[in-house]
Amino acid sequence: MSYFLRRTENNLWRGMFSTFPEDLVTHGVSTRIGGVSKEPFDSLNLALHVGDEPTDVIANRKKFLRALGFKLSDIVTPNQVHGDKIFRVDENYRGCGCNNYADSIPETDALITDTPELPLMLCFADCVPIFFVDTENRAVGLAHGGWKGTLKKIAAKTLLKMNSEFGTRPQDCLIGIAPSIGVCCYEVGGVVIDKCKEAFPDDHERLLIQRDGKIFLDLQLANVIQLLEVGVPEKNIEVSNHCTCCTSDWYFSYRAAQKKNLDRTGRIAALIALK
Ligand SMILES: [Zn+2]
Repeated sequence: MSYFLRRTENNLWRGMFSTFPEDLVTHGVSTRIGGVSKEPFDSLNLALHVGDEPTDVIANRKKFLRALGFKLSDIVTPNQVHGDKIFRVDENYRGCGCNNYADSIPETDALITDTPELPLMLCFADCVPIFFVDTENRAVGLAHGGWKGTLKKIAAKTLLKMNSEFGTRPQDCLIGIAPSIGVCCYEVGGVVIDKCKEAFPDDHERLLIQRDGKIFLDLQLANVIQLLEVGVPEKNIEVSNHCTCCTSDWYFSYRAAQKKNLDRTGRIAALIALK
């Protein structure tokens, strides 16, 4: 099994998990290629809150959504704040945040639903996109794991929330961890190191890697570990090996932008909908 990129009919790229059944879900991860936004948002920036021209973002969103078979007004998207709030959405929330950031679901870093054809969309630049597919109860989820959310165990909490809302059992849940900053590039300092040791007392030595006198955090592994802890079988978890910072020609990366002395960059999007 592996994460792969597929060319779409309207000439974009779409990242996908080979384990997700195509008859059950529609999903995709965007790249930064093929949009209309100008530097430093070049070019397929899908976030309205980063200072890009809204008309460009809307054009980009429409193009990406069309590639996956949806309209702009279909999506539900939150205002992500690096917290651990998980919110269940249904038909009543269709369109929230689709063309106006103020209308997005407030202060939420994970969405879950069992409503068919309701695409959940979250935005990322280095943080970890975590996809959830409950193949038995037909439900999906999508979480945003930056260092704060990851150390607050948002991935594990999303699964537990899906359990209480939909009866999701860990063994029936497929997980996809999409491109995000790798342990190759994610250097961290004091506060993050301390919080990581607190959150993962038994595993921090595997998560905090020393190299050349610096310390790097393995965010993807931290998400995998917390999902294993709540009972997801390892075989159900598919992890992309693309590092957004190493491959910043393909993906927006906050760290890669900083290295170029850019204080702003765009966002890729992760999207999932039940069929
Ligand atoms: Zn890297």
